Amino acid sequence: MDSDDEQEYFAMDSGDEMNSDDEMDSSVSIPKIPSFETMTADEIVKLMNQYIEEVESIVEMPATTTATRILLSHTKWDKQELLDRLTDENRDEFFKVAHVQNPFKVQPKKRPTRKQLTCSICFSDFSQLDIVGLGCDHEYCKDCWRQYLTIKISDDGHAESICCPATKCGIAVDDVTVMQLVSDENTRQKYQHLMTNSFVEHNHSLRWCPSPGCSLAVKANHLIAYRQNCKCQCGQNFCFNCGDDSHDPIPCNLMKNWKKNDNDKTIEYLTKYTKCCPKCHSIIEKNGGCNHMTCRKCNHEFCWLCFGNWKGHGGGCNTYKSADDVVDDQKRWEHYFKRYGLHKKSLKIELGLVESVNSKMDELQAMGKSWNEVQFLMKAVEILWESRRQLMFTYIFAYFVKTHHQKTIFEVNQCDLEKATENLSQYFEQDLTKDNAEEIKNNVLNRSNYCERRQKTMQEHIFEGFENNWWAFQSFI
Ligand SMILES: [Zn+2]
Ligand SMILES: [Zn+2]
Ligand SMILES: [Zn+2]
Ligand SMILES: [Zn+2]
Ligand SMILES: [Zn+2]
Ligand SMILES: [Zn+2]
Repeated sequence: MDSDDEQEYFAMDSGDEMNSDDEMDSSVSIPKIPSFETMTADEIVKLMNQYIEEVESIVEMPATTTATRILLSHTKWDKQELLDRLTDENRDEFFKVAHVQNPFKVQPKKRPTRKQLTCSICFSDFSQLDIVGLGCDHEYCKDCWRQYLTIKISDDGHAESICCPATKCGIAVDDVTVMQLVSDENTRQKYQHLMTNSFVEHNHSLRWCPSPGCSLAVKANHLIAYRQNCKCQCGQNFCFNCGDDSHDPIPCNLMKNWKKNDNDKTIEYLTKYTKCCPKCHSIIEKNGGCNHMTCRKCNHEFCWLCFGNWKGHGGGCNTYKSADDVVDDQKRWEHYFKRYGLHKKSLKIELGLVESVNSKMDELQAMGKSWNEVQFLMKAVEILWESRRQLMFTYIFAYFVKTHHQKTIFEVNQCDLEKATENLSQYFEQDLTKDNAEEIKNNVLNRSNYCERRQKTMQEHIFEGFENNWWAFQSFI
């Protein structure tokens, strides 16, 4: 196997992904797109049990096997670490820290031959069957246990860290005991919930969907450090690594850095223009997201990002060029921030297009088109959103990334995507008539397909750069 390639990716649970041995030859390429799957609460519980069974099949731990779960959660569900620690010479110390009785040492408890035993909480006498202990020296009646566990679970929200009620004892209560003693359905459910929650939160290959109201988790089957954009079944896009809104292809740390200065006030300040046509100076009102402007009075076409003539502006205005070769960092930052802010503003406006797109789809259907035939419009607006989102992020990327000959290619790609996006956007600002419907449809289809291809080209190039270490990033000014 070419291990060099493999180091780029850290496999998670690669277990059954490979097929039979004879299918594994050097031509098997590692998938470049990370795969994520959405998991329901039941599936998470199943997965948790799978972990426990796997470990138990390797280390045959006698008797109190639920200790495995407690031990696993102690190693943050790292199976290998647990196995290492179980074979470590300091094994006893590990059990102690995890509050688990050494399962290899548990002696069958000698109980006094007396028929009646006293509960150490309520001091009443009970028959042996009604007294429960964890194998330590402390035993309580079922009622006292029930009360104790219910308070711990329902009021304190503890699950994993519940220990024997005796002060300084510190032996963790296992799942089987909890389930046997607690009969109230709500408390049992809360216990299960706390348990799965901790499993997800401590497991590096799992993450709860951040969308409010969504109870699904996402599991990463393999991760690539720079490709963390995942999508939950509920539709939420987010960064698997930091849980924030998706910011592909910007690494989390750069995004965090950028956010320090990212606020609407700064955007307002930097994107404020004299709102006049650069040619005839009549007042310009911009309602749409498109940055390719046409003056209503004199028909002059210009770029809203730089106010330059649209026609003479073939190479775009995405790249920062200092007037006199002296790089002024403040100006450089303003250049990128302004463009980031303008695309962010455009995205905001274009996200509001849903209603007008829906009514355009109705209009087209009224003109005799089928439901299927008009879906291209919704697809096109989704492509437009993704293009804007990517453009926003490419300006953050462009600001941070250090000079490299590949940066020039990146800038060409960025410029192409920008032009493709504006060319698509302008069609959402046009009114539909019976005469132009067919033409608009063809144009929107062509331009959205083109936009999608430009997105892909730009992204793939950035990712290729991460793989080949072309990109180095400067820190914030
Ligand atoms: Zn009692
Ligand atoms: Zn105890
Ligand atoms: Zn979700
Ligand atoms: Zn992130
Ligand atoms: Zn004008
Ligand atoms: Zn421009």
